[in-house]
Parts: sequence; structure tokens; C-alpha cells
Amino acid sequence: MRFGKVYLVGAGPGDPGLMTVRGLRLLRHAHVVVYDQLVNPVLLEDVSVHAERIFVGKKAGHHCIAQSEINSGLINYARRGFEVVRLKGGDPFVFGRGGEEAEALADAGIAFEIVPGVSSAVAVPAYAGIPLTHRNYASSFAVVTGHEAVKSKSSIDWAKLATAVDTLVILMGLHNLPAIVAKLVAHGRAPETPVAVIHRGTTEQQQTVIGTLADIVEKSAALKAPALIVVGEVVCLANKLDWFGLDRVEFAKVKSTPSNHLDVS
Ligand code: SAH
Repeated sequence: MRFGKVYLVGAGPGDPGLMTVRGLRLLRHAHVVVYDQLVNPVLLEDVSVHAERIFVGKKAGHHCIAQSEINSGLINYARRGFEVVRLKGGDPFVFGRGGEEAEALADAGIAFEIVPGVSSAVAVPAYAGIPLTHRNYASSFAVVTGHEAVKSKSSIDWAKLATAVDTLVILMGLHNLPAIVAKLVAHGRAPETPVAVIHRGTTEQQQTVIGTLADIVEKSAALKAPALIVVGEVVCLANKLDWFGLDRVEFAKVKSTPSNHLDVS
């Protein structure tokens, strides 16, 4: 029997309209769709009624399915000849272990393809009116995980990062925000540097809190994950460029059924 293939597909940051045409086409034709937490459920309306849908995210109070189980599931379905879409939030190769899944497939000799997605790292700031670069404010940005900020042997060099990069985009950092802020200030970033924390960006639930390194912890205390942190002078542009916050209600009405009328087949 011919083996199937696994497509690691980026679902985009939340707004279903930000899924790629290639991704949507594959989603419609998949035999099996394996998806997780950050994927907007609206996208699943495009999955064939005959396809198997497998949720591998965290259910409230329960642990996620182990990564090894996800990997072996993908391999087994492909070995049985199925076309499998592994749908991942944002871009499949920006955190979220897409690289590990691809390695497992390569090791098992399974054909795979990577379909990049619009990462939350760029899209969420954009929907909050924050350009990551701007000639007057920032000529570099870095995307880092905030998950490691409290580890004593963090693989991130916060001392260098604090001053070497103009705009910092921190994913998975909400929980460690106090430690992140403390490290940045301790390593020379000015306490008055603007900071934005954005919850569920690009969706109807998007919420943005803006402050400075000195007061963002207090100001954003009520925000919940998933959230993304932007540090740098570009954040001050949000006051002027918050296009989505302003017409979100209208926007949501138009955008909530994005793919049904998109003819991509
Ligand atoms: N591969 C994904 C990132 C996975 S890590 C991507 O490219 O976007 C998961 C983290 O991404 C979350 O903890 C959060 O920090 C961030 N994130 C993803 N979607 C988000 C959203 N809609 N709003 C705010 N943060 C988001």
C-alpha cells in the first residue's frame, strides 16, 4: 500500500482569514486533521465530514497529549495511507514543536510538507497597531519565548537581548512577565520603555494593555493566556494605529465566516 503524507500546516494567529490558500486547500482534502488549542475552531468547518478530527490540545484541568504520542499518531496515519493535516497555531516552525514533529516524520521515512502560516509574532502586534520596525523607532526585532525567563540556565541571553534588539516580541511570557521585566531593566533597558500585552490578538476577544516596563505587570494583571508581549518604542504607535480595536465589531461580522466563500479549490 502507498504511504500517505503529513502536512504541517500553519493555521494563522486566530482570525481565520489569515490562513493561507494552500493550507485551506489541504484542509479541505485531508483524511485526518490533527489540531490543537490555538487553532480557531471556525477553520474546522472546512474539514470534510468524512475526515477524522483529532484534538491534541490541553483540556481544562488535564494535561496535553504527550508529544511522542502525537508524533506516533501522525506516523501511523500516514503509514495507513492517509493524507494528514497537522494544523498548528500561527506558523508551524515558530515554537509549538513543529520542528520536532517534522524530525519524527523524517526519521520514520514519512513524506511531509511544511505549509508556513502567519505567525502570531507578527500578526498580533499588527492587529494592535504596532509595526515591529519603523524608520524612526526600530530597525530590528527578535522573537523569543518567555517560558525560560525564570530558569537559572536559560538559553536566552537576556543581558544581550535587553539592549541589542530594538523591538522584542515575547511569546508564552505572560506568566513570567514580572521576571522578564526585571531582567530587561536589570540589564539596561529603560523602565519607561513602552510595553504592550495583547490577549487573543486578531480575534473578537482581542484585548490590549499598554504600559511601560515600570508598570506593565500591574496594569496587565487581569489578562489571561494566550497573550503576547511587545517591548520597544514602536508600541507608542498603537495609540495612532489601532485600526482593529476601533472597528473590531464590524470587522468580526464580516470576517467570522471567511473560508466558506473563498474558492480555493
Ligand atoms: N506557532 C505559533 C506560536 C506557538 S507558541 C505562532 O507562530 O504564532 C504559543 C504562544 O503564541 C502563546 O503562548 C502566545 O504567546 C502566542 N500566541 C499565539 N496566538 C496568539 C494570539 N492570537 N494572541 C496572543 N498571543 C498568541
